[in-house]
Amino acid sequence: MYITKAEKLLEQYKYEDALKMAKTAFDNAMYNDDNKNLGKIYGIIAKIYKLNEQKNKAIINYRKALTYARNSKARSLESELYNSIANLYIQNDSTVSKGIDHYNKAYNTARKIKDNSRMIQPLLNLAEYYILNNDYSKAYIDYLTPARVLINKNSSSIEKTKLNNLQGKYFLNVRRYERAEEHIEEAIAYASKGIENNSSNKRLISDYYEELAFAFKTKSDIFKKQKEYRKAYRYIEEYHNYLDKSVGLKKEIDLQRATIKFEVDQFKDKAEKLEEDKAERDSEEIKWQISVILGVVLILISLAFLISAYKNNLQKKKLNSVLIEKNKELIHAKETAEQVSTLKSQFISTVSHELRTPLYGVIGLTSLLMENPEEKKKSEYLESLKFSGDYLLALINDVLQLSKIETNEVKLEKVSFDLRSLIEGIVNSLHSKQKNNDNDVHIDIDKNIKTTLLGDSVRLSQILINLIGNALKFTKKGNIWVKVKCLDFTNDNYHLRFIVKDDGIGIPKSKQQTIFENFAQVKNQNQEYEGTGLGLAIVKKLVQLHNSNIKINSEEGMGSEFIFDLFYEKAIKVENKSATIGENISIGTSNFYILIVDDNKINQIVTQNILKKKGYTCNLANNGMDAIEMIKKEQFDLILMDINMPEMNGLDATKVIRTFNTNIPIIALTAVEEGEVRDQAMEVGMNDVIIKPYDTQQFFQTIMKNISRVRYT
Ligand code: ADP
Repeated sequence: MYITKAEKLLEQYKYEDALKMAKTAFDNAMYNDDNKNLGKIYGIIAKIYKLNEQKNKAIINYRKALTYARNSKARSLESELYNSIANLYIQNDSTVSKGIDHYNKAYNTARKIKDNSRMIQPLLNLAEYYILNNDYSKAYIDYLTPARVLINKNSSSIEKTKLNNLQGKYFLNVRRYERAEEHIEEAIAYASKGIENNSSNKRLISDYYEELAFAFKTKSDIFKKQKEYRKAYRYIEEYHNYLDKSVGLKKEIDLQRATIKFEVDQFKDKAEKLEEDKAERDSEEIKWQISVILGVVLILISLAFLISAYKNNLQKKKLNSVLIEKNKELIHAKETAEQVSTLKSQFISTVSHELRTPLYGVIGLTSLLMENPEEKKKSEYLESLKFSGDYLLALINDVLQLSKIETNEVKLEKVSFDLRSLIEGIVNSLHSKQKNNDNDVHIDIDKNIKTTLLGDSVRLSQILINLIGNALKFTKKGNIWVKVKCLDFTNDNYHLRFIVKDDGIGIPKSKQQTIFENFAQVKNQNQEYEGTGLGLAIVKKLVQLHNSNIKINSEEGMGSEFIFDLFYEKAIKVENKSATIGENISIGTSNFYILIVDDNKINQIVTQNILKKKGYTCNLANNGMDAIEMIKKEQFDLILMDINMPEMNGLDATKVIRTFNTNIPIIALTAVEEGEVRDQAMEVGMNDVIIKPYDTQQFFQTIMKNISRVRYT
């Protein structure tokens, strides 16, 4: 509103009032951050400078106005400002091209928004420029023609005046005097109308006067060209008349102008200062906005961080609970596995006991039958029966042994033993079994092993029995070497190398690793070799139990060599009197009275018959209770006590017997695995353990050893 008023006042050359209005408008626009109005106000300031003939300042302010107009997308204002700037540029030769350029910009900007009235002004200005520079056809075709199309009855009188003036000038130039005169007449008519309608607008009236002067000059020229000098003269006078009027008005305007000059500058300065303040405020605001944005971003980032940390935590918790769950499952699985493993070894031990008991009957009865001359005819069958029984027993013993090693039940013992007699004993008993193969066995024990050793002689025996047994089995009419080398002897420690070598059938290279696995056997063309396939597996595990390893060198047809190293401590030799006595006693020399305590009838018969044949007298008890009663009544030399019996088992019976008879030798005769029962047996006061089925020689040796211990000590 203030701006329109200011513009109006400006048109009337009322600079002071216009400026007042502009100031108010400026404050408002600044306050409202109204770019379009700021553009308009700078336009007004520029216009004031222009009217004050301060072209440069005018251009600077027009440019400012233009920036605001562009920012606020006020296209119409933008076009008007381009046109105003062009008006200034065109006046100076050095900036003419800029002027033309700006007119075009004014036209194009207006065309984009289809603002016809704004398009007319630059077109007329360009046409005027080209006409004044004698480029009539360009002026007419490019600018006057489109301007004529755009101008209609609603267009302003000044535009209509100008259009006709320019057309008149054009037609004069092309010597179409009549058309020229028509247009000039029209221009004069529009100008007169304009003056009439805008009597208060001095600037506009001054413009009309100028247009009229232009019109009369053209009119004079039209007549001059037609050599009508009188008329031409008359109109040239008119021309001067209007020119004077225009100048007169301008002088009036100039007077007002002088007073305003100082104020405009002041306003301009104030406006600039206000603008700077605003820019500062804006930048402050921007700064504040930036810090708010930064703060928000920071909060968002921390929030995102917190959320992700929270999520991580949740995930961790989840994972943890999964882990705990898995751990529980694992522990459960481990416990189950352990239970299964214990059950497995329990099962194996029970089964093996259950198998061994009837086997005792089978093997025992077979042996008895074999010795009976009446049964000689059937001896072939009996031998097969005995062989099968022995094989079954070996298998059971091996499975039991392996299962014990695998469940870590086998612990190495430390007992003193004589290496030479151990090896010779093994060789003797095995060699006698494999007589058919006709092998020579060479024992070579290092001379440096002078003392008895301290270690697990039972495990060493098991290793050697398997290796020497295999060597004897897989060699025919050949040689077996059993060597023990002392690699090192320091601080009472022996580092021994054991070598069991043969020149038998050998083992193919491809099989040398697998033969140590459970039930691995090399398939031979003639299946005459018997075995369980567990021997080497047991050997390997027993050697490993000694923290060592077994190696094999073998070639098919050339023989095999098994090598392993073991460490033994030196033992302080303790003479075992009783053992010596026992060993020296010849078997079958006595007529001793033995009580056999066993619930199994077949076992009773087998044991009784074996003993009777050696001259022993026997009596039978079916369980522990009966045995106690009998011992109280009769004088026995020895008791062979089964462990597992109904009513009262062997261990309990022994406990009772020991309460009234501490002397009588009691030997456990059981199918239970020795390791399981020996400690318990000794604890209740038994003297020895014989595992069924047994080697008869050993059986009698043990019996005699115990009887003589009582007799001779
Ligand atoms: P087995 O009860 O069958 O003897 P082992 O585990 O003791 O079981 O041996 C596995 C296999 O290794 C044997 O069946 C045999 O084929 C081969 N073997 C073991 N020792 C010898 C050897 N000294 N000479 C030739 N072959 C052997």
